[in-house]
Amino acid sequence: MLDIQKIRADFPILQQKVNGKPLVYFDNGATSQKPQVVIDAISKYYQEINANIHRGVHTLSQLATDAYEIARGKIQNHINAKHAHEVLFTSGTTFGINLVANGFASILKPGDEVIVSHLEHHSNIVPWQMLCEKTGATLKVIPMNEKGELVMAEYDKLLSDKTKIVTVNHISNALGTINPIKYMIDKAHEVGAAILIDGAQSVPHLKPDVRALDCDFYAFSGHKMCGPTGTGILYGKEAWLNKLPPYQGGGEMIKEVSFEKTTYAELPHKFEAGTPHIAGGIVLGTAIDYLNEVGFENIQQQELELLAYATERLSEIEGLRIYGNSEAKTSVISFNIEGIHPYDIGSIIDKLGIAVRTGHHCAQPIMNFFGIPGTIRASFSFYNTKEEIDALVDAVKKAQLMLS
Ligand code: PMP
Repeated sequence: MLDIQKIRADFPILQQKVNGKPLVYFDNGATSQKPQVVIDAISKYYQEINANIHRGVHTLSQLATDAYEIARGKIQNHINAKHAHEVLFTSGTTFGINLVANGFASILKPGDEVIVSHLEHHSNIVPWQMLCEKTGATLKVIPMNEKGELVMAEYDKLLSDKTKIVTVNHISNALGTINPIKYMIDKAHEVGAAILIDGAQSVPHLKPDVRALDCDFYAFSGHKMCGPTGTGILYGKEAWLNKLPPYQGGGEMIKEVSFEKTTYAELPHKFEAGTPHIAGGIVLGTAIDYLNEVGFENIQQQELELLAYATERLSEIEGLRIYGNSEAKTSVISFNIEGIHPYDIGSIIDKLGIAVRTGHHCAQPIMNFFGIPGTIRASFSFYNTKEEIDALVDAVKKAQLMLS
């Protein structure tokens, strides 16, 4: 069992008032809050070892390089990658997905197929549409059902020897559905296709084991898992990363440059052009240490309790509909109240100190499926409490009274 008050004391932002009310932060799906150890580690880096990495012979450059590579190793262990050079530092999930989609432009031919799902964030749709436009490949979409789940029987039918890559999120940001990715990975491999998992919404809640999953790529963002914004990881199997061309050209990613011919550096540097977010990468390691100290079993237990409690309490409200009720679901509740625009509810409860997300959550195809412009999304983290859920329910009831 977690000592929630002790955990909450680790997050200075949670102690403050917003609009004169204690902050209730339920927008964790957009970005998580940061514990003091992460905030301190950022200033410690700039105060003590700031230097550019992989280039200098001087002491600070070596200290910064070592710290950066130690962080890479921590992330390798965390996701159980076979090699450290399969762990690429990126600026976030979006960058990682674009890197892979761009690489596949050199592989795909007209007539080839790319499979995405109806449950994706725009950043796991648009790069693949751009890829298909560039190459003449066709985009296929795995449909969803009313519960907010992907229809596996339809996925099975879409797969064929034309499929070159499948891309799907581990957990849906808009509905919280946990997709059956192990099944999907094995099925993609049966037809010889690669598969990318968008882990943006899974890494705050669970520890992915990329080797047990056997996925080809796994992309995620640091800022949703207590780390700094502008950080992320793309895991790729060594063979795939060797096969794909570099994404960006520049310093760091070359072996030798001449005007006649340039040769590229070994992994991971081939994909890490330019000066990276050095402090961010190092501190992502600190954030992962913090989450592991809290413990993912504890995190899941707390979050599932919050999900069950919030589902029950919100269901008391007349005219409230929850979208996405898969049995495999993480701590996200997307809902609407009959006759009221989600934005209006969001604005009123903000005045009461409650931060939720309203809108289409960068997942317009899901909103179109339900025939709605958007939802109110409350996404809970392990540092949230049942008392905060009570405050949400009271605030939503108040807003409903005011607006109806
Ligand atoms: N995929 C999913 C499922 C997401 O929830 C998000 C962030 N909302 C992204 C991708 C994009 O992540 P980022 O903006 O950190 O690149």
